[in-house]
Amino acid sequence: MSEILTKGWAAYDEAANFKPITFKRAALKDDEILLKTLYCGICHSDIHAARNEWGVTKYPIVPGHEIVGEVVQVGKNVKEFEIGNKAGIGCLINSCGECEACLNSNEQFCSKGAVWTYNSVDYFNDNEITKGGYSNYIKVHKDFAINIPENAPLELIAPLFCAGITTYSPLKFSKVSKGMDVAIAGFGGLGVMAFKYAKAMGANVSVIARNDTKKQIALELGASNYYNDINNVDKRFDVIISTIPSKYDVLAYARVLKYGGEMAIVGLPPIDEKVSISLNALIRVSHKKIYGSLIGGIKETKEMLEFSLKHEIYPEVKIISAEDINKAYDDLLNNSSSFRYVIKFDE
Ligand code: NDP
Ligand code: ZN
Repeated sequence: MSEILTKGWAAYDEAANFKPITFKRAALKDDEILLKTLYCGICHSDIHAARNEWGVTKYPIVPGHEIVGEVVQVGKNVKEFEIGNKAGIGCLINSCGECEACLNSNEQFCSKGAVWTYNSVDYFNDNEITKGGYSNYIKVHKDFAINIPENAPLELIAPLFCAGITTYSPLKFSKVSKGMDVAIAGFGGLGVMAFKYAKAMGANVSVIARNDTKKQIALELGASNYYNDINNVDKRFDVIISTIPSKYDVLAYARVLKYGGEMAIVGLPPIDEKVSISLNALIRVSHKKIYGSLIGGIKETKEMLEFSLKHEIYPEVKIISAEDINKAYDDLLNNSSSFRYVIKFDE
């Protein structure tokens, strides 16, 4: 098999101005499948990475980890997919498969290091730096591709492979159930998904934002309360999911947890926006838990997709063409809408 000629969109430096790129992916391996990309969501993590806000970006970078595509080639060991099937790829394309985390399907914590969909060293493919879904073809180990049933709404499903699983996972971890009071902090692409899942799990769900721009949509979606300032929150919550992508006062949120409440942090601010916590203040919010949550494993991603399809839980999306990636980034950085931009790839 020969190398895979791929066309995509790359950022070349911290200005994150996307331009076309042509590159080659290593030839398909026996246990890999090749997808022709149909849709790819734009996650705020793509923005952090393209702008090198976490300090680890290798340029040129081709982001994109909310991918839906059509299977166009399968390796000879692949029984799970056939040409023409639709499949999804999230943040992971491979991992060692042998360590405790992998054996428990928490591949994101692979002790050898998971192979992330972009900007990661692919030690199964000559240490090539992975390039993501802002491109017309992408390959993945068969065990990291998610089967998508026929007739599923593909453009709505793409964002589930990051925004969906990243919010579903902590809600399950914190055992959200009927009647619980849940708050979502940061109401963008991830926040809306967290909101919809928590409601489907039977919780009363409130939104904590820092302005009123998303008040209308939150109320339309059935928010119990909408706060435009954490300091005005008069209610107490069993669970808070924070998707805030910048620096903020974490303990101000922990204070509005109920006794025994839990707060999951999924927002990943730029590395130079460090949050520091006063231990004295932390001790005053005792008997509450604050934990970080990083995407979710492949087994849970399949469960999330089933849950989403069953309850028809999808993001609010805006479909764009790849030429409009730069405009979408500007909008997400300046205007912060609650919908997910999803790139549609042409034939
Ligand atoms: P979006 O840009 O779609 O949404 C972020 C939202 O947060 C916006 O609505 C913004 O609105 C709001 N916001 C920003 N600052 C504050 C603040 N101080 N208080 C309240 N709201 C705020 O981003 P995504 O939803 O795509 O991603 C969110 C974060 O999650 C990112 O940091 C991303 O990297 C991270 N992430 C983490 C993952 C994980 O595994 N842990 C996986 C995927 C993403 P406004 O500006 O109007 O306030
Ligand atoms: Zn993401």
